[in-house]
Amino acid sequence: VMARRKIEQSETELLATKKKLEAELEAGKLLQQQKDGFIGMASHELKTPLTSLSAIVQVANLKLKNSEDPFLAGAMERANSQVKRMNNLINGFLNVSRLESGQILIDKSDFDLVTLIDEVIAEHRLTVSSHQFEFEVHEHVVMHADREKIGSVVSNLLSNAVKYSPKSEIVKVKCQIVGEDVQVSVKDGGMGIKADDLTKVFDRYYRVETNHTRHIAGFGIGLYLSAEIVRRHNGKIWVESQSGIGSVFYFSLPLAYLP
Ligand code: ADP
Repeated sequence: VMARRKIEQSETELLATKKKLEAELEAGKLLQQQKDGFIGMASHELKTPLTSLSAIVQVANLKLKNSEDPFLAGAMERANSQVKRMNNLINGFLNVSRLESGQILIDKSDFDLVTLIDEVIAEHRLTVSSHQFEFEVHEHVVMHADREKIGSVVSNLLSNAVKYSPKSEIVKVKCQIVGEDVQVSVKDGGMGIKADDLTKVFDRYYRVETNHTRHIAGFGIGLYLSAEIVRRHNGKIWVESQSGIGSVFYFSLPLAYLP
């Protein structure tokens, strides 16, 4: 009788724990939905004034670029680059909310992936003076995919490689065919990611909290969006990393369709 009572008691306890966990999960989901809703609405509202501000700043920047007043010239350039940053952020938030509501469409065309990666690297070379980019490529790869969105995945991995490796200056990009897929990798010698966080970094709003990352700005949406884009192309995205040594982010896309 004692033994049976004990079993019954632990069953009741288990049931209570299960209920509590389920309630917490529901509350978490609700919170996430509220967060998504708020961010979507706020980004939407910010987009219109930001678009006109962006146009004004661009024109002012062009006009004052060669101004005799060095303060004016420099200030307009800085304003321009900050407005661009804000635009990228707002677009990221808008993309998250579009994705949640199923509004992100994949618009496929035929293009050479290597040329696309070259373009993305060139853009980074223009704006990032702290790091060098190396690109190893064996052959050109023509694919049928959403060029702009695949470009944003590469761009995001490059930005992260720079952002999370303040003390290591070389970012290595590789593009190769592996079996039936084309595989792109971005390697940095930065702070790395500890084992527990390796899969979580692709979650929405997830950011690794350490003394090293605390001062680095971000909202944890870049990898989430990248993962969704890759998944919608039936591809895979993953990371290999070691704390303090660096990370390699990979994504692969099926080559099933060759024009
Ligand atoms: P954000 O950089 O805005 O926080 P991301 O979704 O791009 O958002 O990245 C999520 C998290 O993954 C980052 O906050 C960071 O902790 C980690 N991370 C991403 N890329 C790297 C990298 N190359 N090296 C180390 N950590 C990284």
